Amino acid sequence: MVVPTDHALHEGLQVSPLILSDDVRRQKIENHLAKMRFSAATARKIQDVFISEMNKGIHQQPSSLQMENTYIPELLDGTEGGLFLALDLGGTNFRVLLLELANGAPIRQEVKRYYIGPELRVGSAVPLFDYLAKCVSDFVIAQGLQDVELPLGFTFSFPTIQHSLDVGVLVTWTKTFNCSDAVNKDVVLLLHEALDRRGDTKVKVVAILNDTTGTLVQGSTLDSDTAVGLILGTGSNACYLENADRVEHWEPERHGERQVIIDIEWGAFGDNGVLDFIKTDFDRENDANSLIVNSFTFEKYIGGKYLGEVVRVILARLTKEGLLFVGENTSQNLLTPGTLTTDLVSHIEQDSVDGGDTNTKEILAKFGIIPDQDDIKVVQYVCEVVSNRAALLVSICLASLLDRIDREQVTIAVDGSLYKHHPRLENWMKQYISLLTPGRKFKLIHAEDGSGKGAALVAAIAQRIKKRLE
Ligand code: ADP
Ligand code: MG
Repeated sequence: MVVPTDHALHEGLQVSPLILSDDVRRQKIENHLAKMRFSAATARKIQDVFISEMNKGIHQQPSSLQMENTYIPELLDGTEGGLFLALDLGGTNFRVLLLELANGAPIRQEVKRYYIGPELRVGSAVPLFDYLAKCVSDFVIAQGLQDVELPLGFTFSFPTIQHSLDVGVLVTWTKTFNCSDAVNKDVVLLLHEALDRRGDTKVKVVAILNDTTGTLVQGSTLDSDTAVGLILGTGSNACYLENADRVEHWEPERHGERQVIIDIEWGAFGDNGVLDFIKTDFDRENDANSLIVNSFTFEKYIGGKYLGEVVRVILARLTKEGLLFVGENTSQNLLTPGTLTTDLVSHIEQDSVDGGDTNTKEILAKFGIIPDQDDIKVVQYVCEVVSNRAALLVSICLASLLDRIDREQVTIAVDGSLYKHHPRLENWMKQYISLLTPGRKFKLIHAEDGSGKGAALVAAIAQRIKKRLE
């Protein structure tokens, strides 16, 4: 039974109906996908679990949410000036960035991208960190800054346990990295050792953070109500400004901090089984095809690295069941993991927005498939259901955060290509957050490059705090 107050939510969760010429086929397909669609009651149950896991995490009890203290207790105050470096590792590109600040605002930025080959992403961590250090000195020397003391903010977008602003111990690699000998080590130290082996610059790592934290800080320069940072890119994660007195894990001495950024690490939400009630066979197969199996449960429902694969798994399954591309010579391509990337899901979703089928046909043609009208509708429907589930899951967590922060007005700063390019996520999120926490005032803003610019800004904050405490 739908709770009366959730009637609007129930209505809002409907996606466009699948209409096919063959109703039996439609029914069978809907049955396969039924578990991908949430009722209002399921949405509320997910929300309850999220809130409970957040509370456990912040009280240092076993939880799939790490609720990690970032030790960033304040945002920019407008006094920051000088040159700051940032490193961004964990995204698609590895970048080195120089930011010049005056009065807390960027006045100049230089960026260089470096390619990290697949062989460096696995195996021993020493060649990886030596390579990172080489890129830093290449960049710094090219800028003529080898003799200048440069504070650096290190965006390291993997789960770490932070012991202070500049000590971060790697918990596990994710995404496409897996240099296992770095696990349980302080990655700031690994980077410093590599920089010292070269000895050709005066770079000092003053803060380690992840892209989520950088996004919140970067967002706060665009909108002073920013209190949440969200990543929807290869992976997904969020952080928020928490009341410092609620935070139990705080290692260095406190200095009257009133708030602090908490990195939720929600990619791992559900790794302890608390979300098993929403897991489908498609998710199990997506997980089995991923680099690190049985972990990052939530991210695998949402991240750009995975949405395309979930769609592919479903399409392959429907094809095998004789419900899709009947009579077509199903290309091996579609049956191979990793062939359907999330940007293609966006393009197919664009057709649904436009009421067309050009992109869908073009994409299927690349798979060697010539679809009929019903095939096109099914493919578009699957992309919608998978994308919509991701939007709803993110919204459920964001709505809970807005309730927790409990401010008059909160701005959520978002970064990541999935959010930027997917034609419907943003609108669905606005709609679902409003339905889940009616009456709350919030804004979603796009804060580009939190992992680069944001990291240099965090270095400036760290430097300012350091000077004050000296
Ligand atoms: P990162 O998260 O690695 O820092 P991005 O924010 O650029 O980098 O996100 C890259 C991810 O975004 C890729 O996994 C890709 O699947 C996804 N992506 C890229 N283009 C699109 C698109 N047009 N629509 C949806 N997702 C996209
Ligand atoms: Mg990124």
